[in-house]
Amino acid sequence: MREPVTAYLGLGANLGDARAAVAQAIQDVAVSAGVALTAQSALYRTAPIASSGPDYINAVVEVHTVLSAPALLQCLHGIEAAAGRARPYRNAPRTLDLDILLFGDSQIASPHLTVPHPRMGQRAFVLVPLAEIAPHRVGAQALQAVSEQAIERIG
Ligand code: ADP
Ligand code: MG
Repeated sequence: MREPVTAYLGLGANLGDARAAVAQAIQDVAVSAGVALTAQSALYRTAPIASSGPDYINAVVEVHTVLSAPALLQCLHGIEAAAGRARPYRNAPRTLDLDILLFGDSQIASPHLTVPHPRMGQRAFVLVPLAEIAPHRVGAQALQAVSEQAIERIG
């Protein structure tokens, strides 16, 4: 049996009932085999960046998992698919997006998986909820760098 790894997952949705989609996804993560939900941020509302459509609802969760990083990604893709996610084009509006932000201290650069998530440092909708549940994983400078981006905590 693998030792559990602490991973952080980013959740976002901006189509349909985005709030319900994120809440459901958190439940889906919590009941996934090999995954234990150990912390969850508040929900946040943010304007789309490099995307279009209505505002996003975002959150970050902490999990302890015995899955490998590729297996965890596959699990997240299954949850996205169950939420009706389609990928008509890059950065299209989406019913649900689940990303692996951090996987322990692993550095991964494979064709299908890059960890830490390569764009997390530019995104308030990742850094602000991540800092809420894992302040030790987000530097003050990183938060400062995204402080111009509007983000509203909605509880
Ligand atoms: P994005 O999340 O960048 O807006 P997608 O959700 O459509 O876009 O993801 C596209 C691909 O990104 C996925 O099929 C996945 O293989 C890849 N990917 C690379 N690194 C990661 C990661 N850390 N978390 C989630 N997906 C990743
Ligand atoms: Mg994604």
